Amino acid sequence: MDIPRIFNITESAHRIHNPITADKLATLGAALRMEPGARILDLGSGSGEMLCTWARDYGITGIGVDMSQLFTEQAKLRAKELGVADKVKFIHGDAAGYVSNEKVDVAACVGATWIGGGVSGTIELLAQSLRAGGIILIGEPYWRQLPPTEDVAKRCLAHSISDFLMLPELLASFGSLGYDVVEMILADQDGWDRYEAAKWLTMRRWLEANPGDELAKEVRDQLTSEPKRYAAYTREYLGWGVFALMAR
Ligand code: SAH
Repeated sequence: MDIPRIFNITESAHRIHNPITADKLATLGAALRMEPGARILDLGSGSGEMLCTWARDYGITGIGVDMSQLFTEQAKLRAKELGVADKVKFIHGDAAGYVSNEKVDVAACVGATWIGGGVSGTIELLAQSLRAGGIILIGEPYWRQLPPTEDVAKRCLAHSISDFLMLPELLASFGSLGYDVVEMILADQDGWDRYEAAKWLTMRRWLEANPGDELAKEVRDQLTSEPKRYAAYTREYLGWGVFALMAR
């Protein structure tokens, strides 16, 4: 079981697989005012940067579940590197339907809400692991500018304009699901560059090391076209944020 190999190639050097930067991730951890020993569940935990740095900086404990074998291995290595291997556990597996044995203080899905079939389904899934009064974290894109056409939405790699909301509507949608938005950290275009532009050097080096690979043509095509597509579309139209929610 694994995610499509292309992501394990293009994001192999990423610590954070999202447009949030390390300093914003730290700001978010501080903003949540967690007590040392707070328990976190992270579905789609990637290379584990959130749990590992928050364990080091804020004394949390956590479980991360991720379907990428590579990212999960990197998360375990990062935990050792930061000296928090006794505080955080990373499980390689499908997080769809994953409910923790013990209730957690914070239940997160940061940039992987397809795991629960969309934002509302993911909130329902996370709520099953959450203690009363706990916090849900959702990382999700929104439109900075509404795409003028469906074609522009597709060039942002969305299926359609309806995939995402504008920020005010996204915030209001959490209210409609019965949740207060109690904090948020928004990515900016520099953060998007860290996520997207970092793939280009990784792709270039991978191509040099793997010229005969069956994915070499796909990676070559992406490296050729991505900088322009990204600058014209994703960077202009897509915002991204992490939203902290508490049930009303
Ligand atoms: N939250 C992490 C990773 C976000 S990228 C971060 O911010 O860095 C999305 C992640 O979801 C990837 O690591 C991918 O491997 C993982 N993923 C995709 N489908 C999944 C599934 N069904 N179950 C668990 N993880 C999944």
